[in-house]
Amino acid sequence: MNNILNLTVSPAAIAIIGGGFSGSLVAANLLRNATMPLSIKLIERNSEIGRGVAYGTPVDCHLLNVPAGKMSAYGDEPNHFLNWLHSNGYEEVTPSTFVPRRVYGDYVQATLKAAQANASANVQLEKIVDEAIAIETKSNNTIVYLSSGQCLHVQKAVLALGNFPAILPAPLAVLGKRYVKDAWSADAITNLNPEDAILLVGTGLTMADAVVALHQQGFQGQIHTVSRHGLMPCSHKSTNPYPAFIEVENAPKTARGLLHLVRQELRDALIKGQEDWRAVIDAIRPIIPQLWQAMPLLEQKRFLRHVKAYWEVHRHRIAEKIAEVLDAAMESGQLIHYAGRIQSCQEFENGVDVRICERGTHKDIVLQVKRIVNCTGANCDYRRLQHPLVASLQEQRLIRSNTLSMGIDTAPNGALIDADGNASEMLYTLGTPRKGNLWETTAVPEIRVQAANLAQELLKSLNPKPDVTTFVLRKPAMLFRQLFDKESSTYTYLIADPESKIAILVDPVLEQVERDLQILRQLGLTLRYCLETHIHADHITGTDRLRSLTGCLGIVPENAGATYADNYIADGNMLELGNVQICAIATPGHTDSHISYLVNDTHLLTGDALFIRGCGRTDFQNGDAGSLYDAVTQKLFTLPDDTLVYPGHDYQGQTVSTIGEEKHWNPRFAGRSRNQFIELMKNLNLPQPKKMLEALPANQHCGRVLVAWDYQI
Ligand SMILES: Cc1cc2nc3c(=O)[nH]c(=O)nc-3n(C[C@H](O)[C@H](O)[C@H](O)COP(=O)(O)OP(=O)(O)OC[C@H]3O[C@@H](n4cnc5c(N)ncnc54)[C@H](O)[C@@H]3O)c2cc1C
Repeated sequence: MNNILNLTVSPAAIAIIGGGFSGSLVAANLLRNATMPLSIKLIERNSEIGRGVAYGTPVDCHLLNVPAGKMSAYGDEPNHFLNWLHSNGYEEVTPSTFVPRRVYGDYVQATLKAAQANASANVQLEKIVDEAIAIETKSNNTIVYLSSGQCLHVQKAVLALGNFPAILPAPLAVLGKRYVKDAWSADAITNLNPEDAILLVGTGLTMADAVVALHQQGFQGQIHTVSRHGLMPCSHKSTNPYPAFIEVENAPKTARGLLHLVRQELRDALIKGQEDWRAVIDAIRPIIPQLWQAMPLLEQKRFLRHVKAYWEVHRHRIAEKIAEVLDAAMESGQLIHYAGRIQSCQEFENGVDVRICERGTHKDIVLQVKRIVNCTGANCDYRRLQHPLVASLQEQRLIRSNTLSMGIDTAPNGALIDADGNASEMLYTLGTPRKGNLWETTAVPEIRVQAANLAQELLKSLNPKPDVTTFVLRKPAMLFRQLFDKESSTYTYLIADPESKIAILVDPVLEQVERDLQILRQLGLTLRYCLETHIHADHITGTDRLRSLTGCLGIVPENAGATYADNYIADGNMLELGNVQICAIATPGHTDSHISYLVNDTHLLTGDALFIRGCGRTDFQNGDAGSLYDAVTQKLFTLPDDTLVYPGHDYQGQTVSTIGEEKHWNPRFAGRSRNQFIELMKNLNLPQPKKMLEALPANQHCGRVLVAWDYQI
């Protein structure tokens, strides 16, 4: 049956429940990538979207615990956060700065707003301030019930529920007003006298937040902290990256084996001159989910029992500035940590008596405090949650608590697994709820990848590839224009997705920026990227100028030695603009980092690697004739013969060729061996490009033309 006939008039709808970082980023990725009519309903029970627990704090000394350079909301645009900071009044921030978390919340909000502004006209975001209290799944849709009484009919729902408040430790249950369960609330730090003592239960990052907030408040009294191990988070320190040293396939499958391996590597690293353990720990992070999943349940339990506390303080570190506050408070005696368990609490008129059984000695420690603040961190045991939505899902057997009591079970694509073990096709999640399955899934670097993948998954499942009968009714797959700069004989390519109207310019020329802007305007296109095949020697790229005029991103081949790029692209990377897919193919030789781009498997942009009946020179910019011969004959010439070849230049007025034609008729390659080609290229004796001295330095800065000062003495 023809799929088109089944289309209903109303757009597909996706509900995202929870508007913290996870929910906001799923929404932003959907807005960026959706080309079909889509209604996104982002439901958040608090009035502000984008903050959640982590970035909702108004206290400026609550800093991110990850440096700014690693906090981009988009994995494929590593400088996105830094660029935002620099254009929003935080010019002094470097990649290693620890920015206030409040500012990060502003950034998440701005990122969502920008995605909304740039989305296709038929993709809509609706922010709903309400609490989702139940979900019901039917055969072809899902109903989300809100506490206001409203209900939403959607095709898919994403649970981005994040972190739940910590559970009250049993002995504290007897307490009334002296107990504060939310460590970030004003109740935790205000209305204290200088002679008061306070007890923070938990010694992790939440405790650090409470101590710095008390410090900022000018609190002079005694701060006690207690946790089972009494371990404090370590501080960050800038280190050089350490190479990956564990291969997932050969890694030990036991907690003890892994611990042993990491300890051994730490010793070896010291011998090799790596002065700091942090880089070694960080080198494991990208493969933690695989290491975790490879361990049998029993070993995962062993890890949680014996290693977790030590892992947490080394992995979840605090900014050096925060560590300095904690250290000073400890040195002055204001801050005292205890390792042990709270045995009992007794509330009096003026305070609480707390009895702690000390770890190891089993001695009783008795403290008299004015207030007790719960800093035990988030709770992700879904069996113990008091959350109407979770209760509803449990009742209908739509979720299954993870055996380790950490979140719920999920399929690799984030789909919820129900009580009978089946992966849902309607309900998905990301972030903390996946902790039992992935272990490392709570911070921005992991969540942003999950959010991007989940958005793709949702769009794919809503928009399955059409069958053959719908083919004739489809709009053209891409808009493709070849533009020419006469002075340098350079071709610039404008490519766009006709549905979303999002465009890319490949190898723009500075002098032609006005022309490019005009055609973008006339065709109603939004320029998202400028992409370079290489650092050009014969013209200055228009990237920087276009970027400042349109807000697009400049993408340059990896290792091209270019600064000011917004992102770098490498062999095999794929750029997607709606229905348009651009695949990078490394073709070194003209320069050592040159890349050609295959667009939608049909149009090959060859830059200076392959011209029509010719090729680019190889006698400067680390050019190498042998590499060029290999790249062209072993990569480009293996593409189908009917692949269209669009070169970076042409000096004879030719516009397009095919791989088949070039294999037969290109005099540089046809019938020539590698050595013959090298010999030919060696003897070309070409003059230097006219603009080379001006173009190279500018292009190494993405076309930013540097002002030269003339000093007259
Ligand atoms: C104090 C703190 C500091 C952190 N600092 C960092 C850091 O510096 N760097 C880093 O990478 N990570 C940090 N993290 C980790 C953090 O968990 C993630 O970065 C990220 O914020 C998680 O976002 P989330 O949306 O998954 O969860 P949350 O931030 O918890 O957001 C979930 C949202 O869902 C809403 N919600 C829940 N149920 C419903 C419902 N039924 N209906 C409607 N709305 C609902 C909640 O109100 C909340 O806003 C920190 C975490 C905490 C707690």
